[in-house]
Amino acid sequence: MGKSILMFFKNTLLDFFGFKKNSNYVKKYLNEANFRSTIYMSFIIIALEIWMIFRSHDKYVIPAIKGGTDWFKAVFTNTSLFWLFMLAGVTMMIFSISYVAKRKRGGRARKKTLIPIIASSILILYTFFIFKELEFFKSWDTRYYRINNLGIICLYFFAFLLGVATITYSIIQYRTGRDSEILSIIIIIMFACMCLSFGIKVGYTDFFSRFNNGTGLPRPNSDGIYEIKSIICFLTMVIYVACLLIWKPYISIIILTAVFVGFSRLLDGDPANRVFADGEEVNYITFLISLTMITISIYQQRIREARNSEKLEKIAKFDGLTGLYSYGEFVRLTTNYLLDLENDIHGKIFLFMNIENFKSLNSQNGFAEGNLFLKSFGHRLAEIFEGDIIGRQGDDHFVMFTDISTMMEKIDKSREALKDITNVFMDIKVGGYIPIERDVEVRSEIDKARYASGRIKNKYGKYYLEYDSKMDEFFHKRQYVVNNIDKAIEEGWIKAYYQPVVWSNDGKLCGCEALARWIDPVYGFLSPGDFIPVLEECRQIHKLDTAIFNIVCKDLRMALDSNMQVVPVSLNFSRLDFELMDAVGVFEETVAKYNIPKQYLHVEVTESALSDDLGLLQESMNRFVQDGFAIWLDDFGSGYSSLNVLKDYNFDVLKIDMKFLSNFSTNQKAKDIIDCVIRLADSLGMKSLTEGVETKEQAEFLKKAGCLRLQGYLFGKPLPKEQLIEDIKTGKYVISNETL
Ligand code: C2E
Ligand code: MG
Ligand code: MG
Repeated sequence: MGKSILMFFKNTLLDFFGFKKNSNYVKKYLNEANFRSTIYMSFIIIALEIWMIFRSHDKYVIPAIKGGTDWFKAVFTNTSLFWLFMLAGVTMMIFSISYVAKRKRGGRARKKTLIPIIASSILILYTFFIFKELEFFKSWDTRYYRINNLGIICLYFFAFLLGVATITYSIIQYRTGRDSEILSIIIIIMFACMCLSFGIKVGYTDFFSRFNNGTGLPRPNSDGIYEIKSIICFLTMVIYVACLLIWKPYISIIILTAVFVGFSRLLDGDPANRVFADGEEVNYITFLISLTMITISIYQQRIREARNSEKLEKIAKFDGLTGLYSYGEFVRLTTNYLLDLENDIHGKIFLFMNIENFKSLNSQNGFAEGNLFLKSFGHRLAEIFEGDIIGRQGDDHFVMFTDISTMMEKIDKSREALKDITNVFMDIKVGGYIPIERDVEVRSEIDKARYASGRIKNKYGKYYLEYDSKMDEFFHKRQYVVNNIDKAIEEGWIKAYYQPVVWSNDGKLCGCEALARWIDPVYGFLSPGDFIPVLEECRQIHKLDTAIFNIVCKDLRMALDSNMQVVPVSLNFSRLDFELMDAVGVFEETVAKYNIPKQYLHVEVTESALSDDLGLLQESMNRFVQDGFAIWLDDFGSGYSSLNVLKDYNFDVLKIDMKFLSNFSTNQKAKDIIDCVIRLADSLGMKSLTEGVETKEQAEFLKKAGCLRLQGYLFGKPLPKEQLIEDIKTGKYVISNETL
């Protein structure tokens, strides 16, 4: 306990004085904050110096011109320090603005390095030309002059170094596209040194010149004391530098103490004279301590901001589970890569990787195990695709930007890694897309790679497919569907077609199934295969189903209002409907809106929807039953868990999948199975319906086997409402008196 308290204090103190190591991110953040401050700082300096130059205009320039002396000398030499500071301020301002702006753009190096180069060249030339013109250095005889001269030499020296460092920085950036963090720190330090030497020099000369009557010899006032008030320029410059350049508190403490002690020693030139009166000495030290505390508090505040922002950025940039880039960051990085003209984009490819059968790992071993798997697979992918940009799009989907030449080898390694990690049978399905231009929408390139990977889904042995021009047509159709679903519903391009369902014993109409159709002005007639999987993938299917509920209820209302004989309609629900909306609620509302008796509507859910074992679905099914709707199990026998579903739910009707009829005439087993399924349904208290009946032979067999309802092309294809009404009118279909 005691030890941990001690550790806590130690850590807090270390943190307080800045001895703890900061991450690169935090270092950069602090550096950038300093440059932000420098923008203001240099602006103030420029404004101040321009004002000073104008102020001294009358004193030097006008008399010089009138007197016919050298105007260059008159303009520049006498006000040389103002000019020097102004030029340094301009260089700093340009540099700081470009530094901060570059960060804002996300660190992308642009080659706009010419302006800082011009500014710093002018600064260097100025230091050269003016330095030899200066007349300060003529007298070195007293300490006063020596310090004064030294101060000026330092100023010119730092200004010169500032110019050289800025030019070097710009050249490095131009050549490599990268920025040198060290040089940027040197630049800012040079500027700080300029300010400090200015403060010391002017503070010193102000302090003594008040008493020396121009003799250059320090002299105390009548009480034998030098007045401290005149070191205001020194204090201003120190505040300036201390508050605006924040790196580490201990550095500030060392620099400030050194500068303060050094300056007081400087004033204290003659040990026989007391420079400070007692009260002034206290003030001087208090000033130093307060300033130090201010710098520490600014540091603490910035470091807190930096750490918070680092955390946030980490969350945004990296996928929490695998540590790979998040999808957003992947897109940003690849976009930048493509846009950067220095990068050769030929030979580059986008890959989309989907893990097939990952869901079964999740359902067999649980979610936590699934996550663990994704984590280790992510790590392996990071190793395999080292040097490439790689991210996780979500779920079991990974995205990479890599070289075509090494891609196949890496994909093979990824497959091997998969086998190393887990015993559950899984494979990867990778789609590739080669970017052709630089200025592209990366998300849509990835969509194309994803589309290609989707084309080899469930295809055994195939694990890579590249997006090609043939796919392009399909892809655009797909994009069209996603982009236009709202419009299609609004404009009435979505229609409900009705496929007849008949009793097997007398062939009379006992119901129909509503099947969606999209009649498009561009693509013409689209069947569900063209749009339902896409809408499911993009999680938009609930929009379509809501529209179909409305159309069907409206049609039924119209039929009931015109006193037509009406048969029940079964409606298809997607598993996602229950996730994306309150499907039962929406359905209830629509039925209530059109006031449709409940026996006229049946709910069709496919067995694959129910096998996902979602509590949500169980609850929804119960609500349908409580509301009085019949539930039909669609496509029975098409999935893996048909029998389980029968165990867990109660259905009114079992729709036997049409695949059972596919080789009906040649395969006795198919008949036996259908026979069994019908009996199974019967014994569980369910009625049966067989879909996809195309021949009389099939119908006859099913009737004998006891299947009550039949649906298929033999009795009619899905028809538009008008056609169905017409067919009923003409007697093609006779509506049975019993429809339940
Ligand atoms: P499903 O619910 O099993 O519908 C039966 C499908 O079999 C329909 O295809 C129908 O046209 C087709 N069919 C019927 N009789 C025969 C036959 O004798 N031979 C053959 N070869 N096919 C026959 P469709 O209309 O293309 O619909 C395909 C699937 O799309 C549907 O299968 C259903 O799962 C889904 N679907 C259709 N409309 C909707 C809808 O509004 N919402 C949702 N969520 N899914 C829908
Ligand atoms: Mg159906
Ligand atoms: Mg079906």
